[in-house]
Amino acid sequence: MKIIVLKFGGTSVGSILRIKKVAKIIKNYSKDYKVIVLTSAMSGATNKLIGMSKQISKNFLDDEYDVLVSAGEQISCSLLAGQLSNLGIKSRSWMAWQIPILTEGPHKYSRIKYIYKKPILKFLKNGGIPVISGFQGINKNLRITTIGRGGTDASAIMFAKFFKADKCVIYTDVEGVYTTDPNKLKSAKKIKVISYEEMLEMASLGSKVMQPHSIQDARLNRINIEVKSSFVNKRGTLITKRKNILNNKIITGISSTSNDAKVTLIGVKDRPGIAASIFKPLSQNAINVDMVVQNISSNGKETDLTFTIKSSELNKTKKIILANKNINFKRMTFDQNVSKVSIIGVGMVTTPGVTFRMFQALSKQNINIQVISTSEIKISVLIKSKHVSKAVKSLHSEFNLNK
Ligand code: ADP
Ligand code: ASP
Ligand code: MG
Repeated sequence: MKIIVLKFGGTSVGSILRIKKVAKIIKNYSKDYKVIVLTSAMSGATNKLIGMSKQISKNFLDDEYDVLVSAGEQISCSLLAGQLSNLGIKSRSWMAWQIPILTEGPHKYSRIKYIYKKPILKFLKNGGIPVISGFQGINKNLRITTIGRGGTDASAIMFAKFFKADKCVIYTDVEGVYTTDPNKLKSAKKIKVISYEEMLEMASLGSKVMQPHSIQDARLNRINIEVKSSFVNKRGTLITKRKNILNNKIITGISSTSNDAKVTLIGVKDRPGIAASIFKPLSQNAINVDMVVQNISSNGKETDLTFTIKSSELNKTKKIILANKNINFKRMTFDQNVSKVSIIGVGMVTTPGVTFRMFQALSKQNINIQVISTSEIKISVLIKSKHVSKAVKSLHSEFNLNK
C-alpha cells in the first residue's frame, strides 16, 4: 500500500473556495496513493479562540486552553471531509481523541508519542480518505492536548512516521522554503533542496514556514518533506538529509524574529555559580533563555549579565529574578524593541570570513550589534527591531542570495 500524507495549512483551507480547491488536489493524489490528510484550522480561527481565552483571563488554564484552541481544526476537518464526499470520495473526519493520537508533556506544548493505526488503516484499505485534525492529541489522563503553534506540521510528520508513508507533502501559502520570508523581501528565492539541519535552524530562528519540532521529528525518522503551494501547481522545496544535497552556497537562508526581549542585570556579584543561580529558576519555570553575554568584570568583584527571552515571558522573568534570594545585583534593565537576525548555512563551516562579512555588511548600514551567538551552521545577532528589514536585505545581497 503506497501511502502519502498531505498537510494543509490555515490559508490553504481558509475559505469554502479554498477547501474546494484542496479537495481537488487530494482527489488527484488518490489515483496513485492511499491518502492521509492532516489539516489546520481555517486561517485566523486559532487566533480568535486564543483571543477569547484572554478575554476570560490573562492566566487562562492551560488544560482548558487546549480544549478551546483545538476546536478550530474540527471545523476545517469536517468541511474538507464533507467536500471530498461531495466529489464522490469516501471520506470522514477524525479528531485526535477518536484515533487516538497520544501525547506527552505539558499542555500547550505536548509532543506526539504514539498514534493508533488500526481504524485509519482499515479505512484506507476500504478505499477511504481520512481527514485528521492536526495540532491536537490526548494525554494519558484522556485530556485534550495541543502541540504548539503551527503544530499541524508535526502531526503530519508523525503520521508519515507511524504509517511509513512514501511521501509527506506540506501544502502552504508560499511556493516552498525561501532564502528569507518572501512576504518580507521581494528578492527572496525559492530553495530547491535544504538539509534538516539548516531547516531546523531557520525554523527555530523565526522562519515560520515550518514548525521546528516537525523538522526534529523528520530528521530523527529520515522523512523527506516537500513544502509547496496549494495555490499554484509548481515544484516546491525538498527538506532532506545533507548527503542528498550538492550545495555551493555559503549561506542558505536568513531568518529573523520579532518577539525577543533583552534583560540586563547590572552589578552582579562575580563568583562561581552565579550564572547557574540566575538561570536555574528560569529553566524550572520553562522560560527559554536564548542568547547570553557576560562581560569581563573590570574590578574582579562585579559584572553585567545580559540575556534574551521571548517578550511574552518578560513579566514572568522579572518576577522570578526579583524573587531570587540567591543572587545580588544593583539594577535590572529591559528592552523589548530588539530582534534577532540570523544567517544559516552548512557551507559556513568550511568558509573563512563569514562572520566578518556579516558584521561588515551590518556596520555599512549603521546597525549596532548588541549580542552575538553562533553555532557551526549559524550566526545570530541581536539588533534594534526597527533595523531588521534593512539588516535582512543587506545580508541577503552580501551572501548572493538574490541570485
Ligand atoms: P501554514 O498556515 O500553511 O502552516 P504558515 O503561515 O505557518 O503557513 O507559514 C507560511 C508563511 O511562512 C509564509 O506565508 C511566509 O510569510 C512565512 N515564512 C517565513 N520565513 C519563510 C521562508 N524562509 N520561506 C517561506 N516562507 C516563510
Ligand atoms: N491551528 C494551529 C495554529 O494556528 C495549528 C496549525 O496551524 O498548524 O497554530
Ligand atoms: Mg504553519
